[in-house]
Amino acid sequence: MFEGNVRLISMLGVLTVIVIASLMLDYFHILRRPVRISMGIALLAMGAGAVLTLGAVLPDNHFYGQVCAQVQTKHKVVALTFDDGPYSPYTEQILDILQERNVPATFFLVGSNAAKHPQLVKRIVDEGHQIGNHTYTHVDLLKLDRAQAIEEIDRTNAVLKSEVGFVPHVARPPHGFRDPAIMDVMASRGLSVVEWSVMSKDWTNPGEEAIVERTINKVKNGSIVLLHDGDGIAAKADRSQTVAATRKIIEKLQAQGYRFVTVDEILKSREAK
Ligand SMILES: [Zn+2]
Repeated sequence: MFEGNVRLISMLGVLTVIVIASLMLDYFHILRRPVRISMGIALLAMGAGAVLTLGAVLPDNHFYGQVCAQVQTKHKVVALTFDDGPYSPYTEQILDILQERNVPATFFLVGSNAAKHPQLVKRIVDEGHQIGNHTYTHVDLLKLDRAQAIEEIDRTNAVLKSEVGFVPHVARPPHGFRDPAIMDVMASRGLSVVEWSVMSKDWTNPGEEAIVERTINKVKNGSIVLLHDGDGIAAKADRSQTVAATRKIIEKLQAQGYRFVTVDEILKSREAK
């Protein structure tokens, strides 16, 4: 539907010009009869802007191409995903809990954090977890040009390759934001875009109980849960609420009969339509 170099910002720019021009025509009573055509065009352009923006920011929207936010399955499987790490000591604490409960998870790693903590990246992989690319500096990719976006992805892949010997085949753009050019960049690197269906806003540190409740209440078969072991590249925020909540989320969902799997495995459990 879109060319691979189309940017959201360019499309919104064109629509803004159309809206302003149409409103001016309407203001000067041009194209007002028999109906207010220019006002109609302005409204259509605003609606198109809303559709284009929602396609970029909603995690389960496929407007710019296929993303994975959850899967349809009759199996009681759920995938935990941890973003923004590695970030000591929280990544280690989460790995300890996952190991204790024999739970595999998926870590979307920030390249610059991975460069600082090679031993943690190795531990994540050695303990059977999946890794994904979450850019090098955790920047909003919609604000970068295509070459800069490619650099964010490639630098991260290069760090991960040097540390664990392979590059991931899944990526999560920071905040989940993407547009046609970003989807094209991901595809050119063999990366599937993985979003999420359950989010507790754990990064705001709303309290351990809130993180647990919000997660448990929304989980269903095939859910992908968004959590954070890291804090962008700032690495300042405390993640102990997420650590404590992770333990409880695992205990409660296991008690309900859920089985935890990696993103790759949850994709395999997807039912044929
Ligand atoms: Zn992130």
